[in-house]
Amino acid sequence: MIREIPFLDLKKLHSEVRPALDAAYQRVTDSGCFIMGLELRAFESEFARYCGVDYCIGVGNGLDALKLLLQAYGVGPGDEVIVPSNTFIATWLAVTQCGATLVPVEPDTETHNIDVAGIEAAITPRTKAIIPVHLYGQPADMDPIMAIAAAHGLVVIEDAAQAQGARYKGRRTGSLGHAAATSFYPGKNLGALGDGGAVLTSDAAIADKVARLRNYGSTRKYVHDIQGGNTRLDELQAAFLRVKLAELDRWNARRQEVAGWYADRLAGSPVQLPRIESGCESAWHLYVVCSTRRDELQQFLFERGISTVIHYPVPPHWQACYAGMAGMQLPAAERLASEVLSLPMCPFMTPADVAVVADAVSAFGS
Ligand SMILES: *Cc1c(COP(=O)(O)O)cnc(C)c1O
Repeated sequence: MIREIPFLDLKKLHSEVRPALDAAYQRVTDSGCFIMGLELRAFESEFARYCGVDYCIGVGNGLDALKLLLQAYGVGPGDEVIVPSNTFIATWLAVTQCGATLVPVEPDTETHNIDVAGIEAAITPRTKAIIPVHLYGQPADMDPIMAIAAAHGLVVIEDAAQAQGARYKGRRTGSLGHAAATSFYPGKNLGALGDGGAVLTSDAAIADKVARLRNYGSTRKYVHDIQGGNTRLDELQAAFLRVKLAELDRWNARRQEVAGWYADRLAGSPVQLPRIESGCESAWHLYVVCSTRRDELQQFLFERGISTVIHYPVPPHWQACYAGMAGMQLPAAERLASEVLSLPMCPFMTPADVAVVADAVSAFGS
């Protein structure tokens, strides 16, 4: 009999905190307040403290968090924004939906994070912002990025959607740039039971602007200073997130252990293992290996009951929605898209689970 290894077992994760989630649900239904109440305020202050910033503003999802930040910084038509060539498409959509121009920069093919030398080369007089993504949970190399930004007067917005709890030189992601956007999509390290996102910053003016933009341009009922939208983190999700935030460090520590077991067991195997830079503590959102025979490897694992996912199979510039950019020369992003494979990763994997996966990967190579 084969032992099925799921990619991510959210049912099991939630069963660990089920009584607290049920209590959160009851608290909110009994309160009669479902939008912009005490749970949101409490979560915002707890998550701001956790990340080491002064302000957290809950919003509807990660894409909106990025968009609202770009809007708050006044990024729009005529401005260029530097983004990684390999990222989830939301990073790109936020820029183009603000009317700004994308300038993709290639990754370091070992860390998969944006290459700092590439950023410097991509800056023009029109550049307004840089959005480094902490891909797969590993922080981008933020110190040199902040230095370049300071030298050129640019804004740095972290896309921290995959890196809740990760640290760079001891500091949490979300506190490393001028501001950060994150997502509470259920599969993230800190996931809601539905959509959610947040903006993090220690800049009071930006926090105030985003707080208005998410709520009809208002921070006081029926007073509308700017034309805002409606993208809020609701009370139920905030209450659930408070429960899960209390477990985040423990769950991330388990992910770290799982990554260690993978590294031991896969040493010498034919796949390229993730490389974590010194000074970085990954949140291990994903455990991504590379293989030039990726599709065959995925099929081989699938036949053995092991679920894997590809993050991401098509680089953004090859998506139909960016048809005008298809001719761009982004060979590193293109190669990674053909080689990356995310192995099962969740806080509840045992050494035996990891052994099943790693042994299958090794068997494929031999
Ligand atoms: C998930 C994700 C987002 C978008 O988050 P949503 O809440 O799904 O809108 C943005 N950037 C990255 C890198 C992500 O992984």
